[in-house]
Amino acid sequence: MSHPSISFEFFPPRNPKKIVELMKSASLLVRVKPEFFSVTFGAGGGTTDLTFETALSLKESLHCPVAPHISCTNISKEKVFSVLDSYLEAGLERLVVLRGDQPSGCPAASDFPFASDLIELIRRKYGSSFFLDVAAYPEIHPESASPKSEMLNFRKKVQAGADRAITQYFFNCDAYFRFVDDCQKYGIDIPIIAGLMPITDVTGLRRFSSKCGAEIPRWISKRMDEYSDNREALGDFGVEVLTQMSTRLLEEGAPGIHFFTLNKTDSVLKICANLDLIR
Ligand SMILES: Cc1cc2nc3c(=O)[nH]c(=O)nc-3n(C[C@H](O)[C@H](O)[C@H](O)COP(=O)(O)OP(=O)(O)OC[C@H]3O[C@@H](n4cnc5c(N)ncnc54)[C@H](O)[C@@H]3O)c2cc1C
Repeated sequence: MSHPSISFEFFPPRNPKKIVELMKSASLLVRVKPEFFSVTFGAGGGTTDLTFETALSLKESLHCPVAPHISCTNISKEKVFSVLDSYLEAGLERLVVLRGDQPSGCPAASDFPFASDLIELIRRKYGSSFFLDVAAYPEIHPESASPKSEMLNFRKKVQAGADRAITQYFFNCDAYFRFVDDCQKYGIDIPIIAGLMPITDVTGLRRFSSKCGAEIPRWISKRMDEYSDNREALGDFGVEVLTQMSTRLLEEGAPGIHFFTLNKTDSVLKICANLDLIR
């Protein structure tokens, strides 16, 4: 297996003390030589400054490429331009480009209904100044009418200028491989990085999975129940499952793994150590 692309996603901490804590734990992940770190962006631009500050702190303290996310729900063209201008000025030349989700009960107000609209705009204004990652959904996005419309809409993002995709997390590797095969049938040839979510918090994982359409297989769910009041056993189980998944994904051709760390690094470090990725 050639060296895969490994990346780690964080959300921007809300206060300076937490930023310092994050830098400390992120510095441990540098030993994996990740291709990049990424920092999420709250829908509507609510975390604009925090995303920028966190991305900049990571870049400056760890000397590793950082991709801030940008999402286009409830955000104007002018705001997008000012955010992206500041990213470029700071030397942040990678982006993860997303639509984001509408907070429930709020009417949609956006210059861009879909991520493909934002990608088009970025390419029109900034040419190839940014490397663009986008989202992909092996288990089908909850709003997609069918697997076919999923593929057609994903292809629009690629045609608009996406360089690569990172998948929503999944626990079923066959869904990933099926999706990659389908991409070939639809003439989509960008690399598709597998997104993986460590199993550390039963309630949060269940809530988020039902919202984003990630299926938790019964055999995993039952063990999550069993270990729900034993953090250590749950963590060990999660590391074992994700190590097995990562090994299979990389051996069978996934170009890389993106870990949704939720700002916790213990599990991902153990998984990377099991994969022999720590230098
Ligand atoms: C790796 C990763 C990182 C993420 N980071 C963030 C983050 O930082 N901030 C955040 O708010 N959210 C984030 N998300 C969540 C993401 O915003 C949601 O999943 C959102 O619901 C969809 O975003 P998208 O970019 O895939 O949207 P899109 O690609 O626009 O797709 C959304 C839905 O619309 C459909 N669709 C697309 N184009 C069309 C069209 N032309 N006509 C009709 N239907 C269409 C698609 O099939 C899909 O069902 C992330 C997701 C992933 C996988």
